[in-house]
Amino acid sequence: MRILLLEDEEAIRGFVRINLKRNDMEVMEADHGEAALALAETEGPFDIALLDVMLPTISGFEVCERLRERYPAMGIIMLTAKSQEEDKIYGLELGADDYVQKPFSPGELMARIKSLHRRMRQGQPVQGAEVEAGDALQVQSLAEAAAIAAQPSDELRIGPFRLTFGDRKLWKGVEEIVLTPTEWTLVRLLMEREGKNVSRDDILTEVWGRYYVGDLKVVDVNIRRIRQKIESNPSEPAFIETVWGLGYRWKRSSGG
Ligand code: CA
Repeated sequence: MRILLLEDEEAIRGFVRINLKRNDMEVMEADHGEAALALAETEGPFDIALLDVMLPTISGFEVCERLRERYPAMGIIMLTAKSQEEDKIYGLELGADDYVQKPFSPGELMARIKSLHRRMRQGQPVQGAEVEAGDALQVQSLAEAAAIAAQPSDELRIGPFRLTFGDRKLWKGVEEIVLTPTEWTLVRLLMEREGKNVSRDDILTEVWGRYYVGDLKVVDVNIRRIRQKIESNPSEPAFIETVWGLGYRWKRSSGG
């Protein structure tokens, strides 16, 4: 896995670098936003970007927005400060997949990275070599591997939508809806449970992972982003319905 690390504090950068390398990840580092964007151009593709928010020149948010626009399939995790509650949601609104709150432990950071990487690989053929033993997160992906193998076809169609598994894309009619890895996984979950209520807790567990300790708001922010992409009128959604007090539901297609 290739990681792009943007962090201006040398001590934190070193701490993250050591832990990524210990987990056999390749890491390239930048200490300001422009350098990170340049690295993405010259040294990419990267699987996941880890972005600090408070930086000397352009902010991590701006870097997030620009990376997301240019690399829709890249995983993005924001490294947010504890005091800045609103930062978490703002990063997600700009297209980040997740955030880790400082100060974080190496275990927490690695769990988030692995959970995101798992989402990014869903739908792709699972290589036996990628499944490592002795890791709780990997046990979960074994179950997923079985589910993927049992998938009778490589796409799912509901109404005007076609979700393809191999390349993890979503089409509405002839138009491709460009989704982030997290958005694609969430759409897949709701489409697979067409017409059924899915609670926010279940969505959090299924999409972000069993060991996720984050906020239920990440679910709502991602739903909002998806609606903006697929609905003609996002404030009156025709496809993803809100089930008040519970969660969300992909509306059953009347067209069959
Ligand atoms: Ca900083």
